[in-house]
Amino acid sequence: NRTTVMNAYNELASEGLIEGHVGRGTLVKRSHFEQEDEEFGRDYPSWLLGLTGDEDFALGPDARVLSELASTGERQEVISFAAGTPAQQLLPAEIIRSVVSDGLLTDTRHALDYCPVEGLQSLRRGIAARLRRRGVSVDFQQIMVLSGSTQGLGLLARLLLHPGDEVIVETPTYLGAVQTFRALGARIIGVPTDSDGMRVDLLESILARRSPRFIYTLPTFHNPTGAVMSQERRRRLLLLSRRYQVPILEDDPYGEIYFGDKEPQPLKALDTRGHVIYLSTCSKILAPGVRVAWVAAPEPIISRLSLHKQVFDLNTNALGQWIVSEIIRRDLLDGHLARLREQYRHKRDLTLQAIEQYWPKGTRVNSPEGGFHLWCRLPGEMRARTLLREAAQERVAFVIGEPFHSDGGGQHHIRLSFAAAEEEHIEEGIQRIGETMKRIQNR
Ligand code: PMP
Repeated sequence: NRTTVMNAYNELASEGLIEGHVGRGTLVKRSHFEQEDEEFGRDYPSWLLGLTGDEDFALGPDARVLSELASTGERQEVISFAAGTPAQQLLPAEIIRSVVSDGLLTDTRHALDYCPVEGLQSLRRGIAARLRRRGVSVDFQQIMVLSGSTQGLGLLARLLLHPGDEVIVETPTYLGAVQTFRALGARIIGVPTDSDGMRVDLLESILARRSPRFIYTLPTFHNPTGAVMSQERRRRLLLLSRRYQVPILEDDPYGEIYFGDKEPQPLKALDTRGHVIYLSTCSKILAPGVRVAWVAAPEPIISRLSLHKQVFDLNTNALGQWIVSEIIRRDLLDGHLARLREQYRHKRDLTLQAIEQYWPKGTRVNSPEGGFHLWCRLPGEMRARTLLREAAQERVAFVIGEPFHSDGGGQHHIRLSFAAAEEEHIEEGIQRIGETMKRIQNR
């Protein structure tokens, strides 16, 4: 009735949501924000960011490639070989559910409180024990837990680099690392690679002429090439590091995902003098979402790194650390890894078989013995960008070679990650790429 309506009007007016206008009736009041928009405009004020634009420039031309890759999984209709992430079906949801449901309530202090900057001691001990099994002689004081190995790359670059310093990387290499080093002002020197990893024979002449601050390498199941550095080159690399006093930063996210019978050892297993700073992560062997990774290095480096880490996040999220620590303590990781190895080997084989069947002759593809990636040289003069553009219309995705090159190369290469692609779509996806290639060739 009328009184109810009047009461409602009065209530809205008392909350400032409507106002009466003589001759026009009662209208919804313009919000404070709308009034401000009218006065100042709707553009985001540049003074709020305080940027000139130069800060982003340091990140390089491919600044958005990684964040775009991280979100490709959300686009359902595309068959994607783009992101180097674990398969969704192989994420350890059941394992995590089980450790949380019967351990969390009794261990809340470790799981939910702040923890030491270096990480939960139980996890550091678990990681050290696993590394020892792989031939690396470390104890827990030489381990620091990180919020992703990305954080490790950033912290090490902050610790070791001054703007303008040079860093040696492999060509091609993991684009996230190059981006991080560049963002902190590094100048990148690329060393070519082949199927045995970094061309260490070419490294020496660079070290003789320049003074790089460190050498960044992916010796085992390289991203993107899948290569494993030969034993001989590993030994020579360590020798050069000692001779020229240049530390080595070993990035090893894929070492435990091997398809042969023999587990490859990290480069650090050969390091008797503490020249190798070793990084690895849970992102490929468990889940990127837990954001748990680690660095193994001599204690003076760990203590300097922890000062830098503290400034940024105090500690890696304790819940994620506790979960990983419990998975290791309850001996659940090895079974999970065995499953990953079997499934990813199968996906690699499916992908290679489909390539054999559907791609034109003249394409060269590696057959990696571990990791997530196939590195493909396109036939003749075919350009990766052209293929990507046309393949996108066929709703299939991958990453072009250029962002992995610090020297502008890679125009004729693409990286296919077989790990995350759904098994039942692999053949179809590879066929779509093959047909697109043939169409381009026949023009
Ligand atoms: N290094 C390499 C070689 C990688 O492939 C990745 C992930 N794609 C990372 C580091 C980053 O891993 P995280 O999730 O631990 O930051």
